[in-house]
Amino acid sequence: MALINGKYVSEKMKQELKEKLLHLKRKPGLAVIRIGEDAASKIYVNLKAKMCEELGITFMEYHLDSNIQQEDLMGLIYQLNANDEITAILLQSPIPYHLNILQAFEAIDPAKDVDGFHPTNVGRLALGLEGFAPCTPVGVMKLLEEYNINVEGKHCVVIGRSNIVGRPMAQLLINANATVTVCHSKTKNLAEITKTADVVVVAIGKPHYITADMIKEGAVVIDVGINRLPDSKKVVGDVDFDNVKDKCSYITPVPGGVGPMTIITLMENVIKTAE
Ligand code: NAD
Repeated sequence: MALINGKYVSEKMKQELKEKLLHLKRKPGLAVIRIGEDAASKIYVNLKAKMCEELGITFMEYHLDSNIQQEDLMGLIYQLNANDEITAILLQSPIPYHLNILQAFEAIDPAKDVDGFHPTNVGRLALGLEGFAPCTPVGVMKLLEEYNINVEGKHCVVIGRSNIVGRPMAQLLINANATVTVCHSKTKNLAEITKTADVVVVAIGKPHYITADMIKEGAVVIDVGINRLPDSKKVVGDVDFDNVKDKCSYITPVPGGVGPMTIITLMENVIKTAE
């Protein structure tokens, strides 16, 4: 078994991005819209701010009250679209239920949509065209590339079909010529399917859900899950790492696997908006 070290790969990418930034004619600027008081999203936004600072990318946070009305949110998005110093816009999840999230994503200029949630970018990904794709699955593709894991012709099983991870993950794998099966909460006989996989990508949000008996000998296992255990507060993935690891050819740990790739891929996308 070999460990896929996302921390190492993301650090290497950071150095490459620093170098790239030296030669950019235009300074990238990221605007993050955060709504309400969700503790986790505050932490995520702070991490993004810190990384921007380290790289010398302008960072602006727009923290809105949880009672904000749709027209005010739309007004802010239009204002940011028109602001030349803001090259990238990100609407941080979660978003209060009374707001129309799709309308908000659709209002973001697709050229500034670094999360790849605008229907134009979703469509471009589906067509295999250049555009912005969600950072986590792009980060997973980078890890596979970095470890010379070629998915062409391989059976890749993606577990989870969210718009942020599962669906774009499946699309990226199809675009890389993999044979892809997407599983989700309504899938029957999950283990029968995963046992046939050369590569398993898990993004369901259930601690230790994927066990050794579900994995084929020599498979590659990518664990996207981030779960905080209620008793110990320890962060674990969706894969029962200790028991699965000896069966795999490669596996990502949690933390230190996919997580660091998400934020560095976001930085890469932000830099792309200024190129
Ligand atoms: P989500 O809740 O939006 O989607 C979960 C998906 O899992 C759904 O499509 C659901 O059908 C599927 N699912 C749930 N239970 C299942 C089961 N028993 N069998 C098969 N499929 C099942 O979640 P998400 O936003 O896609 O996130 C998933 C996990 O990935 C979470 O733990 C989240 O914290 C983590 N995550 C990590 C990163 C990162 O940077 N590493 C980024 C995004 C999300």
